[in-house]
Amino acid sequence: MAENTFPQKTEIAINEDYDILPRLGYVEPYPNESISHYMGRLRRFKANSLPSGYSLGKITGLGAITTRWEKLYFNPFPSLEELKALSNLIGVEVERLYEMLPSKGVTMKPRPIRLCGACYAEAPCHCIEWQFKEKMKCDRHQLGLLTKCTNCETPFPIPADWELGVCTHCSLPFAKMVKRQKRY
Ligand SMILES: [Zn+2]
Ligand SMILES: [Zn+2]
Repeated sequence: MAENTFPQKTEIAINEDYDILPRLGYVEPYPNESISHYMGRLRRFKANSLPSGYSLGKITGLGAITTRWEKLYFNPFPSLEELKALSNLIGVEVERLYEMLPSKGVTMKPRPIRLCGACYAEAPCHCIEWQFKEKMKCDRHQLGLLTKCTNCETPFPIPADWELGVCTHCSLPFAKMVKRQKRY
């Protein structure tokens, strides 16, 4: 199987064991994108249209594990076998999936969900490093990370649900929240 040819639509692929596996439409990850945000985009991609993390868990054979990843819960840490199962289905290499996860030795803080509006304006995604425990500011922009909407103070939903990139309560775009971020 050629490494760089990814199917654009759901189609049948045959793995080494000659099991018939579904293949999902390929979605290009953003640099630093968290696996939660990526899986949400992957599911909503029109060729895939998977309604929930549960449905992705079902076709990967990973059950509730993918839902946990969407919630940014990585304890126990995703195993190589689990990442391979996802990789086979979506055409993203395991090494690339590891980049969407916290690096070894880094403690995650899954809540509150954090955001740098300036980063979001450049690339509309949630970055995994925003959830590192000690991370209080964006190192690229020297701005404090936000934990809630700057207008109505609604906390951000899990990144898998960031479909429109706006506050779920008042619809303020994430990219506009940069105005209220604290400068360091
Ligand atoms: Zn930033
Ligand atoms: Zn709001």
